[in-house]
Amino acid sequence: MPDISLIFLALVALNLCVKLWLNQRQSASVQRYQAMVPAAFADVISLEAHQKAAAYTRAKVHLSQWSLLLDTLWLLILTLGGGINVLYTFALQLSGNDAGLITGLVFLVSLAVVSGLIDLPLSIYRQFSLEARFGFNRMTPKLFVTDLLRNALVSLVIALPLLSLILWLLDMATPLSWLWAWLGWMVFNALFLFIYPVVIAPLFNKFIPMPDSAHKQKLDALLQRCGFNAAGLFVMDGSKRSAHANAYFTGFGKNRRIVLFDTLINQLSPSQLEAVLAHEIGHYQCKHLQKRLILMALISAGLLWSLFQLLHAPWFYNALGVNVANPATALALFSLAMPLCLLPLTPLSNALSRKHEYEADGYAAQHSNAQELVDALITMYRENAATLTPDALYSLFHDSHPPATLRIGNLQTHPGPRA
Ligand SMILES: [Zn+2]
Repeated sequence: MPDISLIFLALVALNLCVKLWLNQRQSASVQRYQAMVPAAFADVISLEAHQKAAAYTRAKVHLSQWSLLLDTLWLLILTLGGGINVLYTFALQLSGNDAGLITGLVFLVSLAVVSGLIDLPLSIYRQFSLEARFGFNRMTPKLFVTDLLRNALVSLVIALPLLSLILWLLDMATPLSWLWAWLGWMVFNALFLFIYPVVIAPLFNKFIPMPDSAHKQKLDALLQRCGFNAAGLFVMDGSKRSAHANAYFTGFGKNRRIVLFDTLINQLSPSQLEAVLAHEIGHYQCKHLQKRLILMALISAGLLWSLFQLLHAPWFYNALGVNVANPATALALFSLAMPLCLLPLTPLSNALSRKHEYEADGYAAQHSNAQELVDALITMYRENAATLTPDALYSLFHDSHPPATLRIGNLQTHPGPRA
């Protein structure tokens, strides 16, 4: 076996071990503290709610162990096990033995379909057993299937033109192909972010303007104070799929939107909801979306450049068990193998995201009320059964938001209510 195959196997094993170990730590940490609510939350979270969060967290970690093992096995089948060769031969036959762009596209689509089918049993289990057991599932089997088909269709419509462009550019193999592919990828991403809130998200959910209520008056006043267009605030029917509650900011230009889940509006008081909205406006005012886009631009430039270097390196294909060297198989191999090298970067990406969360919290404390945001967060932790005692190391790799204790501790250092 060539040396590089051994390095690849070592990387696969290392990734699996690190992730299983982190999961183990998370499960142990939650179990260790489940007998008592942490002191900072003792007055606001009951022991029963705390223990439900512990059981829910451990159930999710347990499922993730299976999912990790399955993904690793599938990665090995596809690469050293010859799966990519089999799928490529299948694509070649389907497209009439013409080893061109069409075969490349058929190959990549079949790879995505088969991988999706392999993940399906665990997704079904997650939704209809795990989520249901903790009272979170609101999805019907019919909606699950409709979502699946709609997702596949939307992905196909979006991915085909983009993949065609990238495969074509890689096939031309001029010295600057990677740069053109990167430019195409960036234009595509910006376009996607712009149309997502108005074209794609409404295919899955209903978005309505905030209805008239005590909530609305408070929110409108805040929007005006903070200079965010009131037409950009929407309520989403999240309750159609899950009892989990959330809020998010998305899009840019005239399509920028803050979305509140209907489940969230039912859980929070008008003042708490105002504080959550102020946090989301904070993301907009601090330009967090743009900052993430710039980071993504730098990373994807590096990745596309690396892909281009590997495209004509026979060892890359040989070492990973692939005997057809072309842009489509290179792209598939690259997207399967590259995440193995990116694991050490996850904590850095999460650190940036946490910095943004603290900044948005600071903005909310300044323009709304820090204590109301603390109360809202506590309600959200309780209702979502989010653990208050995660393992610090696990959290660095998995959580884009600061752990509850740190986040609330930080909010409590902000000065009192706005005058
Ligand atoms: Zn946030």
